[in-house]
Amino acid sequence: MRSYSFSGTSKKEDIANTAEAADFTFLVEQFADLKIMRFQVPGFEELTVRQKVLVYYLSQAALCGRDITFDQNGKYNLVIRRTLENIYLTYNGNKENSRWQDFVVYLKRVWFSNGIYHHYASDKFLPGISLEYFNELIRGSDQEGFPFREGQRVDQLIEEISPVMFDPEIMPKKVSLDAGNDLVLASAVNFYEGVNEAEAEAFYKGLEQTDPLHPLSFGLNSKLVKEKGVVFEKIWKMGGGYSPAIEKIVFWLEKAITVAENPEQEAALIKLSEYYTSGDLKTWDQYNVLWVKDLNSDIDVVNGFIESYEDPLGRKGSWEAMVNFKDKDGTMRAEIISSHAQWFEDNSPVDGRFKKKKVKGVSAKVITAAQLAGDCYPSTPIGINLPNADWIRKEHGSKSVTIENITYAYEQASLGNGMLEEFVLTIGEQELAREFGPLAGNVHTDLHECLGHGSGQLLPGTSSEALRNYQSTLEEARADLFALYYIMDPKMIELNILPSSLAAMAEYNSFMRNGLLTQLTRVNPGKNIEESHMRNRQLIARWCFERGEADRVVEFVKQEGKTYVKINDYLKLRGLFGELLAEIQRIKSEGDFESGKSLVEIYGVQVDKDLHEEVLTRFKKLNVAPYGGFLNPVFSLIVENAAITGVKIEYPMDYTAQMLQYSTDYSFLPNW
Ligand code: ZN
Repeated sequence: MRSYSFSGTSKKEDIANTAEAADFTFLVEQFADLKIMRFQVPGFEELTVRQKVLVYYLSQAALCGRDITFDQNGKYNLVIRRTLENIYLTYNGNKENSRWQDFVVYLKRVWFSNGIYHHYASDKFLPGISLEYFNELIRGSDQEGFPFREGQRVDQLIEEISPVMFDPEIMPKKVSLDAGNDLVLASAVNFYEGVNEAEAEAFYKGLEQTDPLHPLSFGLNSKLVKEKGVVFEKIWKMGGGYSPAIEKIVFWLEKAITVAENPEQEAALIKLSEYYTSGDLKTWDQYNVLWVKDLNSDIDVVNGFIESYEDPLGRKGSWEAMVNFKDKDGTMRAEIISSHAQWFEDNSPVDGRFKKKKVKGVSAKVITAAQLAGDCYPSTPIGINLPNADWIRKEHGSKSVTIENITYAYEQASLGNGMLEEFVLTIGEQELAREFGPLAGNVHTDLHECLGHGSGQLLPGTSSEALRNYQSTLEEARADLFALYYIMDPKMIELNILPSSLAAMAEYNSFMRNGLLTQLTRVNPGKNIEESHMRNRQLIARWCFERGEADRVVEFVKQEGKTYVKINDYLKLRGLFGELLAEIQRIKSEGDFESGKSLVEIYGVQVDKDLHEEVLTRFKKLNVAPYGGFLNPVFSLIVENAAITGVKIEYPMDYTAQMLQYSTDYSFLPNW
């Protein structure tokens, strides 16, 4: 599970000293609705050579999976990317015009989204050039360089991919969560082939858990296919689906094993490599148990088929990787929180039957990301809590991380962009946001990840998949509500995590403003909200707004035609957060699909059209890209007299160059 930055405000003063930060360019470029940034890797130089080499090997393993993400996000993505890249590199016509610029922007968007669907909104973005011009570009490019099927000609290739790119009606959405549709057929994501929702559900219902207390994550690492009337899984593993990329991943993991920091980490990495080799889900669980227990290493990695946000049925794991190491100062704060996990669990407003009697070691740390890949690149979360399997979390605990060099980069890149001034009514509230917003944001992420996701328990017999397409949204809401409820608790000041309740007020302001108002900047005119985290935030904000309307707990204030959010009673709002937390925990614990569905559909999905239009108009004037992603630093081995003596880190500035480099060096999957 993950959290994403919603305000772009989060900061920790000591993450990089200010002089260093002042010389560093965080914001590299903007196009469409995207900004490309860079992040620093403070503390890398302080690692030992062996640790640096480990970071290098794990980073290589991470980059080798890039094509998997493209293919998972839609079955034409790789071919479209390669077609566009061939044009970009070999087109010999005129490039001094806006049509060419539009083409380049399209290619940059495809790179950013790992395919032709918006990385966040999930709908297909159109090329922004005409089909005629596209044909002209094709004709003016190297005819041998296109990604053909065997025996295919250029015109046949174009005929095959043009409708997918240009026709808004064909495969319009990566993931459809619209109730009433056949979710599988309505989603372009490449997890199912030839099966519909009912067949997929029937297939997984028919699989028997041999050990019901330790259920395997059926479907996590496979594509479900129907051929000649038979439904079966194509497992992603060595010798199976995605084998050419997985072989490379395993190659680098095996190198990493040779420089592991300690036996626990070594055992975990060996198990991960075994899992990629066999594709066995039991091995995957064993790996996760080892990974959770590996607490003393500085370096850590996430690498695998993990989050199921992109599967409308919530089973299939998107491939992702992130290499990181411990931020020791930041980790102290997270450790204080997690060492009191049982207190938070015992005192939460949820029904006693749904609470964990004994919270298993939630290990919380703050990390520094060193390399992002797959579904975490270039758009990346700011917090991660894994593993996802409920039984492992319950019996062995989970690891929860806040990625502060990323939140810091967001903050630096958004300095002075005008958002606060435009959307916050009073100078006092703006100042509160500036002074406490960053710290409060980080603490929210800590609470969300260290405690929120790990809290509560299912009643015996409740399936963890019972909430189906509403699972992700409700799970994120649960974690956010846990954080919101507790950030206002006197315990925060008592534990010295926050300096005063002003910080919690800043967080409430920011959360409600975002959920009711500013996150609408990320929704296209006329559309509803699709993405789980966004649905969750609006669900919470709207529900509390309506519930507290009679008491005017939160209200909209109009001034000079502009709408602002104003909180009148912070303590009552906290009470509402607690009430909703109790209800959503009940829904999860009992697997109450219908109640979960109506909460999300009523509060999380629909957009207030007038307000949306107003917000978009105000936002447009600021010329701020609503989404961001990051370039990776580049690591290279320093070799002297045939021995590795160090690892160099560089921070490239050129987005296009990095993407082309990756397509050259880390592209292992076939075209079709
Ligand atoms: Zn989360």
